[in-house]
Amino acid sequence: MSGGTQLPAVFWAHGNPLLTLSDNPYSRAWRALGARLQKPRAILVVSAHWVTDGVSAMSAEQPGMLHDFGGFPQVLYDLRYEPPGDPALAAWLGTHLGARTDGHRGLDHGAWTILRHMYPQADVPVVQMSLDGTLPGAAHYALGTRLRPLRADGVLIIGSGNVIHNLSLYYGHRTSRQWMQVFEDRLRTHLAHGPIQPLFEPADLGPEGALAAPTPEHYWPLLYVLGSREDNEPLSFPAAGFEGGGISMLSVLVGG
Ligand code: ZN
Repeated sequence: MSGGTQLPAVFWAHGNPLLTLSDNPYSRAWRALGARLQKPRAILVVSAHWVTDGVSAMSAEQPGMLHDFGGFPQVLYDLRYEPPGDPALAAWLGTHLGARTDGHRGLDHGAWTILRHMYPQADVPVVQMSLDGTLPGAAHYALGTRLRPLRADGVLIIGSGNVIHNLSLYYGHRTSRQWMQVFEDRLRTHLAHGPIQPLFEPADLGPEGALAAPTPEHYWPLLYVLGSREDNEPLSFPAAGFEGGGISMLSVLVGG
């Protein structure tokens, strides 16, 4: 692979798939970053919506897309976003991270609800890498550190999830967001000042961690973006907000 300017890495909160349909602070942030960045030669997405036993990498030339949700308006199922794949990048992930290649997997909504705003022409190749559901947070972070060379090689790394993702509270009638604020403040403090280890497991950030991540898959993509961060690289928050009583839209940009 050839060298180049180092691209940032970004953790995007995706939240409710319906957010992709409207002009809102999140879709505006997705568009703004896509417009501002040097165009990547490829995009690697680690999404909450692909969890496997072991690590897999999407390897099809034309991976297509998945409408991997239920109960939403037809207009969401009618959306098409089908960029090319990048089999060479999938092979790199096989060599350097031990990923299995998967020639059948398509883009899930954690990827395309955001990418259709960042790169509306669908002209940047996309590869998704799965989350190994058997690993602890520290191991997800360690895999992220092995992605660092890609950033200097024209690949934009995107993690897609939510640092707080509690659907029963999101859809419920509980309106207090105080616990979310407490959890997110603690997370932001560790992001800004370290140490980084308490970020590996939401429960280590305090008792609110159990509410923030009743299951860990929406939290884990953040660890790949943090792992790809070089020492002392700047970190900022391109989007933030709370949705309902159980989703944080805090997004984290490394570099750039
Ligand atoms: Zn999701």
